[in-house]
Amino acid sequence: MDQQLVVYNSLSGKKEAFTPLVEGHVGIYVCGPTVYSNVHLGNCRTFISFDIIFRYLKYLGYKVRYVRNITDAGHLENDEDAGEDRISKRARLEQLEPMEVVQRYTVDFHNTLATFNTLPPSIEPTATGHIMEQIELIKTLVDKGMAYEVNGSVYFDVLKYNQHHQYGILSKRNIEDLIHNTRTLDGQIDKKNPQDFALWKKAEPQHIMRWPSPWGVGFPGWHLECTAMSTKYLGETFDIHGGGMDLKFPHHECEIAQATAIHQKAPVRYWLHANMLTLNGKKMAKSTGNNILPHELFSGENKLFSKAYSPEVVRFFMLQAHYRSIVDISEAALAAAEKGYQRLLEALTQLATLETAATNAFDFESWQARCHAAMNDDFNTPVLIAHLFDAAKAIKSAHNNQLDIDAATKEKLQKQLEVFIKEVLGLEMKLQHKKQSADDGLATATISLLLELRDQARLKRDFETADQIRDALLALNIQPNDGKDGTTFNIQ
Ligand SMILES: [Zn+2]
Repeated sequence: MDQQLVVYNSLSGKKEAFTPLVEGHVGIYVCGPTVYSNVHLGNCRTFISFDIIFRYLKYLGYKVRYVRNITDAGHLENDEDAGEDRISKRARLEQLEPMEVVQRYTVDFHNTLATFNTLPPSIEPTATGHIMEQIELIKTLVDKGMAYEVNGSVYFDVLKYNQHHQYGILSKRNIEDLIHNTRTLDGQIDKKNPQDFALWKKAEPQHIMRWPSPWGVGFPGWHLECTAMSTKYLGETFDIHGGGMDLKFPHHECEIAQATAIHQKAPVRYWLHANMLTLNGKKMAKSTGNNILPHELFSGENKLFSKAYSPEVVRFFMLQAHYRSIVDISEAALAAAEKGYQRLLEALTQLATLETAATNAFDFESWQARCHAAMNDDFNTPVLIAHLFDAAKAIKSAHNNQLDIDAATKEKLQKQLEVFIKEVLGLEMKLQHKKQSADDGLATATISLLLELRDQARLKRDFETADQIRDALLALNIQPNDGKDGTTFNIQ
């Protein structure tokens, strides 16, 4: 492939040619979830966006180290320096140990992302696993005069940093406006200036997550963990830092300030931000009820959608928008995505059985180049998908004897389509090609009847008949699952 990958760097506000720091290797850090509640669909979109970036970099042949953290301490309510720790609060409300909260929602996060077929990161470090590293960074910042201690808390001195650096460089804010607009909240009176941010917070007696430090018992500030973990696993300067658009300020701005103050150089070469997901044209929010959890969407048990949508369809739907655009999820949009995806998979089935011609009228090479050009243009999945539909159209024409495809082209097209769909877009191609029909209910009833007969045979110790029924079902790709409460089945 002789095309150059170009990425949109939020720092410069421009598309830039991507050249990694070390040839052939890419280091990427993405801010992970704060595990105090079930992962919501908007977060899933962010992680699916970076899954595409991870997958495509690998497809290009890079050796990628993808670090995505788990925030399990230090993230306070409203992203401010005052207020309760989100995990502590949940633990208090549910009368659990904070680590029980962390475990529960980390498992939910992993399960949900696995359902969406995202690849696990190379390293998934936690904030609580890197308290020592964070304390070391704070010590360095205090030694350099860039941070100060007051009453057991340590704050980053934004004004001092701004004397030689530019605080607000990423989010394009200037310090004067920040000084003007930053509110002083209760509990922040220790700060020299309201825009300073906490590196370490003194733990009040009721604060249950606490660690000893040179400044007394406390806990780390939220922004610091990402600097500690990205530096540890990717180095003082690394290639790509990603996250949701909402993290640009203050979180990523603070990360830049901390790391630059410590290492005297910019920590990140390319900043990539994924846009948000709206639901029926409005921002998703629990408080307004305009909200849906991934599992409610997959099961169909919700008030917003008339039927269930598979994770694969939802993923395909999200990829039909560019990661930097807002995507709005609605019944009509999901139904259209489901139809489209089915059409794509049908084309693959048609291609598999296509009778090839002696001549060829499908220009595979130029089609492939257009697909690569789309992805090389800042991971433009909607354009790639449009090219996949072009191929589907050509296959249909060939199927109807209106276009010739020879055997060699058929083989190349089959392979490349599968690579784009499965490997690059991460779609499992599991969706049933057949249309849903009334027959489904009948099939379920019939299988249940057979399972009942099998159970009866086993009770009579007629294992020959029982095995015969099981083998017959297995031959039809129906897997009986024997459990305590009887036998269930799934269709492979
Ligand atoms: Zn972060």
